[in-house]
Amino acid sequence: MTRVLVLNCGSSSVRYRLFDGTEVHAKGLIQQIGEEGGDAADHREALQNLMDRLDLSGLAAVGHRVVHGGERFTEATVITDEVVAAIEELIPLAPLHNPGALTGIRATRKLLPDVPQVAVFDTAFHATIPPEGVLWAVDRELTQRWGLRRYGFHGTSHAYVSRETARLLGTPVAETNVITLHLGNGASAAAVRGGRCEATSMGMTPLSGLVMGTRSGDIDPSLVFHLHRVAGLSVDEIEESLTRRGGMAGLTGANDMREVEQRLTAGDPDAELAFAIYTRRLREYVGSYLALLGRVDAITFTAGVGENSAHVRAAALAGLEPLGITVDEARNQRNDLIISADGAPVAVCVVPTEEELEIADEARKALSLPA
Ligand code: ADP
Repeated sequence: MTRVLVLNCGSSSVRYRLFDGTEVHAKGLIQQIGEEGGDAADHREALQNLMDRLDLSGLAAVGHRVVHGGERFTEATVITDEVVAAIEELIPLAPLHNPGALTGIRATRKLLPDVPQVAVFDTAFHATIPPEGVLWAVDRELTQRWGLRRYGFHGTSHAYVSRETARLLGTPVAETNVITLHLGNGASAAAVRGGRCEATSMGMTPLSGLVMGTRSGDIDPSLVFHLHRVAGLSVDEIEESLTRRGGMAGLTGANDMREVEQRLTAGDPDAELAFAIYTRRLREYVGSYLALLGRVDAITFTAGVGENSAHVRAAALAGLEPLGITVDEARNQRNDLIISADGAPVAVCVVPTEEELEIADEARKALSLPA
């Protein structure tokens, strides 16, 4: 069995999982790195402690989650000095995410100089989206000069759950069309035709598309000009508002869907409206991806909200029976893997995402290692 360590380094945290083949040998989370009372003074110390603790005998690879791969990284890539420099150059595209990953990569390469390391990018699965799904109708000189384009995120999750959906249905991946809905704190939709991504809702950054925990998702971009000119907010303040105080948090004060649902049950009108906005946006994306794909075999829910909220799943797909989309109430309440009625033209699935496992697989593949 090939042993692979998966690291997901954020700005102040390290999530880790050690795999023996597909089996999880160890996992955990180191938090508040660099903060007072935190688990470690810096990433180096956090990783050093971790590696002293873990049994890394026979470790064949380290897989690092990297959020932004830009235009260059369209697949998992074995890390060299040059790759590290290229990831560093992408920081302006992902200022909140790439620096943490880089710090983790640098520290791990020093601590484990003889173990090959692989960067696995959240953007890579979306590299197959055709240009008409990547570019916006914006002045092409600006587009080219400033590299304006959609990248999309949550790629490892969309890749994993779309493949798992085909497995669940017993159909070849290459012949299965799936709409995947990754609904966690961040949320995105993807249209996957025969294993290749054709559309996704996040854009150049993770701000666009679905309504999220604290991000607004799609808005009329003129809101930004209006808030600047009329309300006098700075660009940074507007960004902060749309990314940290938007979404469910902005609409209700609570970013956690469990809390929104509790308030909904208690009859809170703000929660009711927020829930309606959230689920209507989902339905709008499902409809547009149905039209893009033409034939859809399955719609798959995943991540914290998608895997657990029967209420969100039912409301998101309500009224779509004429399109062959049904949700069986009992199956939905049980969080069954398939929640549509038997024989329905479109299967509706709930597939728990396994991003770390997918990263381990990608790392093995990049190094041509056996499972
Ligand atoms: P992240 O996007 O941070 O990786 P997750 O995919 O774990 O996180 O999703 C976290 C979110 O899932 C929480 O903020 C919460 O809103 C939602 N969630 C978790 N459990 C439930 C539940 N039982 N019902 C509704 N929402 C849930």
